[in-house]
Amino acid sequence: MLLTDTDQLLPLFIAGERRLGRGDETASLYPATGEVVARLRAPSAEDVEGAIVAADHAFRTSGWAQRKPHERAAVLHRVAALIRERAEPLAQRQRQDNGKPINETRNLVASAAGTFQFFAAACETMEEAITPARGDYLTMSVHEPMGVVAAITPWNSPIASEAQKLAPALAAGNAVVVKPAEVTPLMALELAAICEEAGVPKGVVSVLCGRGSVIGDAITRHPLVKRVSFTGGTGTGKHIARIAADKMMPVSLELGGKSATMVLEDADLDHAVNGVLFGIFSSSGESCIAGSRLFVARKLYDAFLDRLAQRAAALRVGDPADERTQMGPLITPKHRDTVEGYVHLGLSEGARLRTGGRRPEGRVYERGNYYLPTILEGVKNSAQVCQQEIFGPVLVAMPFDDEDDLVAQANDSVYALAAGIWTRDYKKAWRLARAVQAGTVWINTYKQFSASTPFGGWRDSGLGREKGRLGIQQYMEQKSLYWGL
Ligand code: NAD
Repeated sequence: MLLTDTDQLLPLFIAGERRLGRGDETASLYPATGEVVARLRAPSAEDVEGAIVAADHAFRTSGWAQRKPHERAAVLHRVAALIRERAEPLAQRQRQDNGKPINETRNLVASAAGTFQFFAAACETMEEAITPARGDYLTMSVHEPMGVVAAITPWNSPIASEAQKLAPALAAGNAVVVKPAEVTPLMALELAAICEEAGVPKGVVSVLCGRGSVIGDAITRHPLVKRVSFTGGTGTGKHIARIAADKMMPVSLELGGKSATMVLEDADLDHAVNGVLFGIFSSSGESCIAGSRLFVARKLYDAFLDRLAQRAAALRVGDPADERTQMGPLITPKHRDTVEGYVHLGLSEGARLRTGGRRPEGRVYERGNYYLPTILEGVKNSAQVCQQEIFGPVLVAMPFDDEDDLVAQANDSVYALAAGIWTRDYKKAWRLARAVQAGTVWINTYKQFSASTPFGGWRDSGLGREKGRLGIQQYMEQKSLYWGL
């Protein structure tokens, strides 16, 4: 059942008001059925300009930046509490907006609340450095908010990605313009409404939904926008970085991945099978950190792949509203075509299918963008299916001979976002974890997150880190003061 009344166009948050955009109409469609979940109008170029100028005005006049850290923290704690109070309707709405199974969207909502709570605490407890007098002066280093900052987010985990940017940016005292993905606008609008209700002054949070190449681009280029925090594809991230270079604007870029999962000979195999499955097939593989390249010790390879393929084939693919569903549909029909295209590409490169490789059949799947959990094998790590991000439920499995071979293959990628290691030998785990190039390495676990642990990628997987106590500082400029005595 859909919760939204689709007769109404949803208002955006523009210049301190909730009002309709004056651009083209867009819609959020339920990936499981193609039904319209919500309709809205994108902002016009004038709306974008007005929203950013108003955000700058709100930054300078609303008093948000001047509030004491514990006062801003109190508001952010209220945001976290309101998210928790409304957790179920928010999880249902996110399910409709992007088609993830309800159990996953519940986790995303919980993570968004935790992120606000964490950055409330980080804001309250942030310390500045004072250096004692050296001769006849002392020095002090302080951080100032930047002004208007932009949060540009993708469609795969909207509420979590948006909270990850909004919470630290607000904690730092900025005004924030959020540009959610065109196909998943709802969570950003919900979060903005909650922020306002919790006491963030009007105009401090704006939400401009619509096409990235138009709205996102205009926001990035705007001279009043002092920082862009971007999560999305590597190509888009590089485009934003080029614009930022011209403006000399700091950016953080959380980009694509092609993460390696490694199963060593001494791994706890039950544990490893579960972890590898979860790493690639949760969120239908539409996850930047999906463990999409699997390396298994050659001795184990066949037996492990048999077990893995059996379990993958038995995953319950279906209705995201059903509590028992383990994998939902892909975001759009077009994206499913892309994923399918990659499987065909793999086959043309010589890969063999261990399981999947097609759309599921049956009435329940007819209207949704479903694709079966798929495992390919028989290609080298240099194949395009091993090198390009598929962003879908497609795992490519390969054997490895020894640790040197494993490290060389795992690191042979333009991406370096995450990695997983499955072994009972803690010394090997340590050695490999240090040798593998990635922003995050999981050992005997996968896709675990904590707001207090920095997250980000190396190489084409991005620039900068989000989360962690210092996450707040990327939304601030540092100033050093010298005080004559
Ligand atoms: P995308 O790059 O197409 O879009 C991301 C956002 O950027 C959207 O809001 C989009 O509208 C906007 N955008 C597009 N063109 C723009 C432009 N020219 N200027 C400014 N903004 C623009 O990515 P997507 O398809 O929405 O998301 C999938 C990608 O995101 C995958 O590559 C995935 O790995 C990556 N991702 C990375 C992380 C991470 O933390 N590293 C997390 C989630 C997703």
